[in-house]
Amino acid sequence: MQCCPQKPVIMLPSGESLCKGHFTEYFENKAFKTITKFSLIGKEEHIGIALSGGKDSITLLNILKKLQSRNPKIRLTALAINEGIHGYRDKTLATAKKACEKNGIPLHICSYEKEFGMPLDEMLRVLDVKPCTICGIFRRYLLNKKSKELGFTKIATGHNLDDEAQSILMNQFRNDLSASARLGPISGVKENSGFITRIKPLYLCTEKEVATYAFLNGLLDTFTECPNVSKSYRAQVRDMLNGFEAKFPGTKYGIVNSFLQMLPELKERFKNAEMGSCTECGEPASKDKCNACRFTERLEKAKIKAEAK
Ligand code: SF4
Ligand SMILES: [Zn+2]
Ligand SMILES: [Zn+2]
Repeated sequence: MQCCPQKPVIMLPSGESLCKGHFTEYFENKAFKTITKFSLIGKEEHIGIALSGGKDSITLLNILKKLQSRNPKIRLTALAINEGIHGYRDKTLATAKKACEKNGIPLHICSYEKEFGMPLDEMLRVLDVKPCTICGIFRRYLLNKKSKELGFTKIATGHNLDDEAQSILMNQFRNDLSASARLGPISGVKENSGFITRIKPLYLCTEKEVATYAFLNGLLDTFTECPNVSKSYRAQVRDMLNGFEAKFPGTKYGIVNSFLQMLPELKERFKNAEMGSCTECGEPASKDKCNACRFTERLEKAKIKAEAK
């Protein structure tokens, strides 16, 4: 089925083909409906945008800017993190800066080097650890801490339906249901938990839809991917899911939609999970020290050892 006589640019899992204009309308409506359906954004908020400069976060920025033009009481500020990945992050940060200038959105950039003493590339030289493990822990830590410092009421991330389907499966494979209880289009809503509420307006948009929207609307001109991504567990789950989706269209929707039906029970089951504060930095921690402080300590020791050689 085709929307109109214009040239189609994408075929949806339902089998419907859409032209550029109708796809753009479909995509934006889906993101706005997600915001309304899951009550992601109130009438008056200061939303932080976790901006990497990749297709997902640039699309997110564009959608939130459109939302702001309908509701000027929504304040937007972008927060970018420079992990220190040579030949990759400099490029996406340049895209991020350009997008913020074009849309008149203030941008704050913080870096692993300044916050944790060294860039990610160096961390991986001194410590034998999976890149995405340490990178993910430090990123979540900084997003939470800086969002509170900057006075955001919520932080919006560019996670899409593919990301969520991967996370759901990864947690199942690792038998970690408590991690799944923290997923969903809105998380971290427990009051006084020390966690800033995180929202995912692109939750129901597939990766293919986000990429199509970004390129068709001139938000991005090149596609860059982190050189470490292929080493991650997530990349293996992603490839497996993409293979399944190609054979059985609608698989990713199936995973996320059935998960959404179970999520209220999961949240209820893990609502009393103990969460204290890190004795070093005061950020939320399930043990005496948060994972970021544990890794910072390990890095310092490893650096001293490397220098002594
Ligand atoms: S792919 Fe891994 S190493 Fe690269 S930015 Fe993402 S989490 Fe960090
Ligand atoms: Zn059309
Ligand atoms: Zn800490």
